[in-house]
Amino acid sequence: MKIPFSRRTLLRGAVSLPVAAAPGFAAPSAPDYFKQLGVRPIINAAGVYTMMTGSLMRPEVVEAIRATSGQFVRFTDLSEAVGKKIAAMVGVEDAVVTSGAAAALTIGTAAVLTGGDAEKMKRIPDLSGMKSEVVIQKAHRFPYDHMVRNCGIRMIEIETRDQMLAAVNQNTALLLFLNKADPLGQIKMEEFLQIARKAGVPTMIDAAADVPPVENLMKPIRLGFDLIAISGGKGIRGPQSAGILFGKGDLIRAARLNTLPYSDTLGRSCKVNKEEMVGMMVALSAFLKEDQAALYREWNRRVALMRTAVTSVPGVTAEPFTPKIANQVPHLIVKWDSSRIPISPEALMQQLRDGEPSIELVPEPEPGGVVVSSWMLQPGEAEIVGRRIKDILGASK
Ligand SMILES: *Cc1c(COP(=O)(O)O)cnc(C)c1O
Repeated sequence: MKIPFSRRTLLRGAVSLPVAAAPGFAAPSAPDYFKQLGVRPIINAAGVYTMMTGSLMRPEVVEAIRATSGQFVRFTDLSEAVGKKIAAMVGVEDAVVTSGAAAALTIGTAAVLTGGDAEKMKRIPDLSGMKSEVVIQKAHRFPYDHMVRNCGIRMIEIETRDQMLAAVNQNTALLLFLNKADPLGQIKMEEFLQIARKAGVPTMIDAAADVPPVENLMKPIRLGFDLIAISGGKGIRGPQSAGILFGKGDLIRAARLNTLPYSDTLGRSCKVNKEEMVGMMVALSAFLKEDQAALYREWNRRVALMRTAVTSVPGVTAEPFTPKIANQVPHLIVKWDSSRIPISPEALMQQLRDGEPSIELVPEPEPGGVVVSSWMLQPGEAEIVGRRIKDILGASK
């Protein structure tokens, strides 16, 4: 796929948008594997979705992967050295690179359950004789808590502070919190941690998709969660197959023992190798240094540009929208008067998908409209997305 961007947009991308890679920064001589396989690339106006292969790695991450792939090292030497370095970047005791935030949830739970005890580590998910309950607010239940349940635990759902106090007992292994559900639950983050501290039970938070802004990572660290799970491939733009588990030194040590290179462990299936470890370290460092204000300016510029294009069709309205917590980046909600433009949101999305180049929007359409995300677009693509939506709506009369 060739993207017809002008020299000016290319330059703007390279200069004022330090993290945006030009499409296809692989060597021009590299084979076009997607083409050979008959797999159509997409313009990602959706955001970071595993279904759409996440985010694009920063060029320096690709370079780090290449640079580390030609030599052997001792796995544990590297895992510990990278962990210390990553931990120092955000001010926690230790960290471990995992195969995504999902794996971080699993090995974090295994760490809490076993404490690195050799016999227990062999035995889980059989928890007989061990603590076996994880307490979570009902509003915080999420599909990925399956990664915690993988360890054989039972989820105890509570809603109020009194219920939480009553639920915590000698069987409670962990108190689990979903960062993006904070507005939905009755017990807010600070109070949750107060109760946990009083009860002396470890805490873990899933903040997988919640950066940028950086503050969404720093807040749970500052408030003192024992374990913090985050995705490597989403807003941080490290390897999509990586994530980070940050936390207390003893728990991170136990987490490391519950995964590779050790074969008889629950987390052995959560493989990362040297390339992801160093790639993740490089990505986090770049993410923490990047000019977030400049990024938001660029994302807002794209939203404004697409808005101007689509609202040139009579009967179409479009409003910028930034979610309050996860994927906290500028989106555009496009709606239209269905009596004048009789096309369903699903049909519009299908036409965008079927066209050339193929475009994906946010998978969950709005009632009577669609949602466009700006942050995974590459230079020149906002123009294409705006024009295609405008053309399809304009022709649907
Ligand atoms: C994406 C996501 C995960 C999984 O993260 P990976 O890095 O893809 O493993 C877990 N929890 C939440 C809330 C997420 O959004």
